[in-house]
Amino acid sequence: MTRFAPSPNVAELRESATIAVSTRARQLRAAGHAVIDLGAGEPDFPTPAFVIDAAHRALDAGATRYTEVAGIAALREVIAARASAVHGRTVGAEQVVVSSGTKQALFNACFALFSTGDEVLVPTPAWTSYYEMIALARATPVVVRGARERQLKVTADDLRRAATARTRGVMLNSPCNPTGAVYSAGELEAIVALAAERDWWVVSDEIYRAISYDGEAPSLLSVAPDLERLVVVDGVAKSLAMPGWRIGWSVATPALSRTMTALQSHTTSNSATLSQHAVLAALSDTGAVEAATRAMVNEYRCRRDAALALLRDARMDVLDPHGAFYLFVRIGESTRDDPEPGTTFARRLLDDASVAVVPGAAFHAPEWIRIAYANRMEQVLEGVRRIIAARIS
Ligand code: PLP
Repeated sequence: MTRFAPSPNVAELRESATIAVSTRARQLRAAGHAVIDLGAGEPDFPTPAFVIDAAHRALDAGATRYTEVAGIAALREVIAARASAVHGRTVGAEQVVVSSGTKQALFNACFALFSTGDEVLVPTPAWTSYYEMIALARATPVVVRGARERQLKVTADDLRRAATARTRGVMLNSPCNPTGAVYSAGELEAIVALAAERDWWVVSDEIYRAISYDGEAPSLLSVAPDLERLVVVDGVAKSLAMPGWRIGWSVATPALSRTMTALQSHTTSNSATLSQHAVLAALSDTGAVEAATRAMVNEYRCRRDAALALLRDARMDVLDPHGAFYLFVRIGESTRDDPEPGTTFARRLLDDASVAVVPGAAFHAPEWIRIAYANRMEQVLEGVRRIIAARIS
């Protein structure tokens, strides 16, 4: 039998560490262990009933055929109208590409914009897939660390210091997975100004924007004066509890959108027709969407506050999250003997205390772990109690 040798395209690729944890937790559960899953970055709420009803109706009406690659016109128009409202200027439907999840929208952007020899700044810690997507485009992800006293957020100055003549872009994510940090409009403005001065692309992943605890998290659409060098991606996985429907989208210039559509036409074509109709129904009913999201955010807030109180009482080093549904906790210092204390801890926690969390190494922060509180309150609290006990023991 010939041995499989991966092509250089994927030779360096690592499995998504966040998915690896949920897979392991699922395996343990299947083997009869009562695992508390604080690993998965997936809402525990069901998709709102009015969206499911709309999907049933769409299926009955025969929504089973291919659509335009970039998505059905009505859906792109609704997304464009929402983007226009945030931007304060008209965004056309031709600037919207609907994809199979925000993940694909991000991949389209990275692949269309970056290439061999390019460097892309990644404010770190950051979602695990940015580094891999940039590398898949054969560019180099450059880790830029934010200071602890700023909730690990980076400043324009941090980015300036990390930049070289090869820098082509920067990936932003606010509210941030894994830290829960939210960038203020002022912080974003400074970064956008630097990017404009240096002619960088800004890719802004705003998938958690609706899950924000202190007023609305600013969008790059409202901060940036134009879309010339900007790609804003968003989706419904988190805000509408629709992760399995696989719908996300990008908003960019018409030219870049055409290129991303061409790329998508050769990979997956349109995202699932039924899902597009469900999301169209969801986004068309602003009142229902806002009510559904508000109810979820209120519940997340209660869990965040209760879990934070426990962690702080136990004097654990935890960031102060203002958005998303994660708590980022520092476990200890990297040493030569244990370069990834977060990973060591997460492994022990799963094996000895049946609690799944994601090691910070997945986000290039090996001293930390990420706790997702997208789980029922009693599970979150029991999980956090076990984390505290495991930390002390
Ligand atoms: N971006 C961030 C920051 C995420 O945390 C996730 C999912 O965990 C995604 C994108 C992927 O979203 P989707 O399920 O829409 O592909």
